[in-house]
Amino acid sequence: MEIKFLGSGSGKTSLKRFHSSLYFSTNEYNLIVDAGDGISKAILSQQISFNQINGILISHLHPDHFAGLSGLIVQMKLQARTIALDIFIHKNLAETVRKNLYQSYIFNEKLDFEINYIEFEEAEQIKINKEISFIPKQNSHLDKYKKYDKLNLMSFSCSSFLFVGEGKKIFFTGDIGNDSDLYLFSDYEIDLMITEISHVSLMEIYIAGKKLNAKKIYLTHISDEDEEDINKFLNSLEPIERGNIVTAYDGMAFNI
Ligand SMILES: [Zn+2]
Ligand SMILES: [Zn+2]
Repeated sequence: MEIKFLGSGSGKTSLKRFHSSLYFSTNEYNLIVDAGDGISKAILSQQISFNQINGILISHLHPDHFAGLSGLIVQMKLQARTIALDIFIHKNLAETVRKNLYQSYIFNEKLDFEINYIEFEEAEQIKINKEISFIPKQNSHLDKYKKYDKLNLMSFSCSSFLFVGEGKKIFFTGDIGNDSDLYLFSDYEIDLMITEISHVSLMEIYIAGKKLNAKKIYLTHISDEDEEDINKFLNSLEPIERGNIVTAYDGMAFNI
């Protein structure tokens, strides 16, 4: 299985990095995790065909993770796609996503391919195929908005994920609220950690990596301004530790 960073940027639009998105590629199935603004161009930049993508998993509905979904589906239609597309989405967000596509004039009858919504619940293990599965857990990223929803209309679902594939466990934080979210999967033996850096400090990530025994940490969701801080932090570490913390860039790929 190959994991590639389609985007490693933060919520700030940058000329250096697309918004945060991961690409999991297995023999039979290719999954994108998050589809923010610019995702279609990020995919093209990596020489990936829209029709190679079998599924899209959405962590939450911030524009840097979700705003590109309808545009990406339109690109699939324009490429005369016929193979089905899976959309993995928390059950509390599924209706919003369906409506968003409908209101973007994406009507099922107009597509030559099916969209299968796979709605997941908290802590449920979702099997993507025989090679890869994931477990979602609610994190605190969106808690700060709850006070604004006076009419109680919104779901504030935002998931972190544990991906399981090839006997390895990969913890992908997605966007989180604070460092306690780094321990959502502390009951598991984690091999790799892919973490955002916008809402936690590098020291908090470093400590969590130690406590969780993660063999390698990939840093993503990076703004242009963050790069200097990351370099400073990494340079303050012993060389042997520095090698286990990797700053992601768009197009960076590794096999597990
Ligand atoms: Zn984000
Ligand atoms: Zn977010």
